Amino acid sequence: MAELAGKNVLVLGGSRGIGAAIVRRFAQAGAKVAFSYLGSADAAKALAGETGADAIKADSADRETVIRTVADRGALDVIVINAGALVMGDPLTLDPDAVDRMFDINVRAPYHAAVEAARRMKDGGRIVVIGSTNGDRMPFAGGAAYALTKSAMQGMVRGLARDFGGRAITVNAIQPGPTDTDMNPAAGPMAESMHGFMAIKRHIHASEVAELVAFVSGPHGAMITGSFQMIDGGFAA
Ligand code: NDP
Repeated sequence: MAELAGKNVLVLGGSRGIGAAIVRRFAQAGAKVAFSYLGSADAAKALAGETGADAIKADSADRETVIRTVADRGALDVIVINAGALVMGDPLTLDPDAVDRMFDINVRAPYHAAVEAARRMKDGGRIVVIGSTNGDRMPFAGGAAYALTKSAMQGMVRGLARDFGGRAITVNAIQPGPTDTDMNPAAGPMAESMHGFMAIKRHIHASEVAELVAFVSGPHGAMITGSFQMIDGGFAA
């Protein structure tokens, strides 16, 4: 725990779900944490009160807002790019504007945020993106656009790990499987069919994902880079 004390950490998309668990994990470790949010002002305020983290309203769909939000935090030790949207359904009828907004949040924002963070980071910094097991496996219909965003992240992770490795900055994706959040409730209508793809048939807890984020962000993660860390109960096995 002490290994993350005092670290300057920014979590993009931290008001709910996996992002909120990551905020809690870093705050419990004594890090100086800020997180962004968009629609969930009440949840953001409550989490800030609970953890002492700074809450920043900032739309990840807007490139200039993303870059400014990252730049304003100065020399980060860790950036976790978690904000994500999920648009699923028949590609022939999905609203193309909703799909493009998902691309903005899930692909363009992580790239620009990661680059801006690296510009200001000290040597040995950590860039963590929250991908998905769907970056590797999409075993049902309706998920093409979402899977595209999470596969796109993998190319970014590989490339930026090369770009920033000379400064010992690591770049990794954490790839959860079905995780119990508002996006994918354990009691939701899709839960049982998702468990059918898993070796261990239950939803993942957001705190379990946060633990893995903390590990790659700490000193033991120094040589983990350009990697995709699965935490999916065997969904993609
Ligand atoms: P939730 O929908 O429960 O929470 C999403 C979080 O992202 C919220 O804090 C939300 O903030 C924030 N966010 C979304 N859009 C924006 C935006 N435009 N600007 C700023 N913040 C934004 O999702 P999860 O916690 O389930 O998912 C988090 C990440 O994990 C995503 O990248 C998702 O793709 C990924 N993931 C999730 C899985 C799951 O099963 N749950 C599985 C695999 C990957 P606010 O409410 O304030 O707008």
